[in-house]
Amino acid sequence: MSYINSDNSTQDVVIIGAGPVGIFSIFAFGMQGLKCTVIDALDKLGGQCAALYPQKMIYDIPAHLALTGKQLVDNLVDQAMPFAPQIHLNSVVDDITTCYDEHGHYFKLAIKKHDQISYVSTRSVVIALGAGVFKPLRLEMEELNAFENKNVFYFVDDVQRFANKDIAIVGGGDSAVDWALDLAPIAKSIYLVHRREYIKAHAASWQKILDNPKIQVKIPYQLSKVESVEGEFKGVHIANEASSEFLAVDYLLPCFGLKSDIGFLNAWDLDVSHNRIMVDPTTMRTSKLGIYAIGDCAHYNNKRKLILIGFSEAANCATDLFRYIYPDRAAPVGHSTSIGVPGRF
Ligand SMILES: Cc1cc2nc3c(=O)[nH]c(=O)nc-3n(C[C@H](O)[C@H](O)[C@H](O)COP(=O)(O)OP(=O)(O)OC[C@H]3O[C@@H](n4cnc5c(N)ncnc54)[C@H](O)[C@@H]3O)c2cc1C
Repeated sequence: MSYINSDNSTQDVVIIGAGPVGIFSIFAFGMQGLKCTVIDALDKLGGQCAALYPQKMIYDIPAHLALTGKQLVDNLVDQAMPFAPQIHLNSVVDDITTCYDEHGHYFKLAIKKHDQISYVSTRSVVIALGAGVFKPLRLEMEELNAFENKNVFYFVDDVQRFANKDIAIVGGGDSAVDWALDLAPIAKSIYLVHRREYIKAHAASWQKILDNPKIQVKIPYQLSKVESVEGEFKGVHIANEASSEFLAVDYLLPCFGLKSDIGFLNAWDLDVSHNRIMVDPTTMRTSKLGIYAIGDCAHYNNKRKLILIGFSEAANCATDLFRYIYPDRAAPVGHSTSIGVPGRF
């Protein structure tokens, strides 16, 4: 049996998920004197902000008029780093088992990394797994595979790549429409291709698409073929029942949304409703003592899935978590203005 904490010691707290809420909780828990281990399935920190919309502007983070998903994650990571968390990426928590020792109960987490299983023991678990382990819904066209991450992108991680380029965006939801609008100012031209006559996007955004001279709407059309010459991507063919067309584009962005796997939650023996974990919102405790849930995966009456709500849940969780782990100690209290940030200010 291999342990990810090489000395096999039992950790105070393991956070499952390094989305914005998981990262902020490193800071919130650190301010209580708690050291964290963080585990994430992705190859980078930041959850949805980093993987799905790093270049999109966010406007509802308090005290920031506007910042991109990437800027938010960079700031959160910078804020958390004084607390020296142990971070394990590309690692999926598969299972949580309750174990017992002379101090009471603790948890053993089974973590899968590249098909290897290791374990971590911890007194408490904070689940911040958002929408679960997510992957983009893919276009079932084998010939696209050779161009993935060269000319075909399921995530936009660098908008400058698309400057002065011809792009085909495929999809009929908010993300296809938003990417068409976000890339239009820098792209040379954009085709928005959708197989149905109607688009399921916000009406105001759709009007902007129709008003934008750089965007050509192709509905109802389906992608029929990829055009390449000697392994070089040349564009895509689209077709409907009546006609077909060739779009000479540099890039193809399929935007069909995400497939997120959260079914594993049901095996974790927690009170789960509609794939979300029921919690007490004053403490973020789940139905199992020592396991907490925060962020998008946590649910209670009137819950809104917003980053700032997740931050507040992390702060609520921090106090109760300290009391749970150290029932005999007084929880650190006071504003950051009086206690500072250990090791930094
Ligand atoms: C296009 C778009 C725009 C948005 N705009 C806004 C906005 O303007 N304002 C706003 O407040 N919110 C916005 N949101 C929502 C916001 O991104 C989410 O509320 C936020 O990301 C939730 O943070 P989280 O940390 O709870 O979860 P996530 O960001 O989903 O992160 C969860 C992390 O957990 C990991 N994980 C999951 N399961 C496991 C497992 N078993 N083992 C290991 N790791 C696991 C995942 O890989 C992921 O990195 C937007 C979302 C999208 C998609």
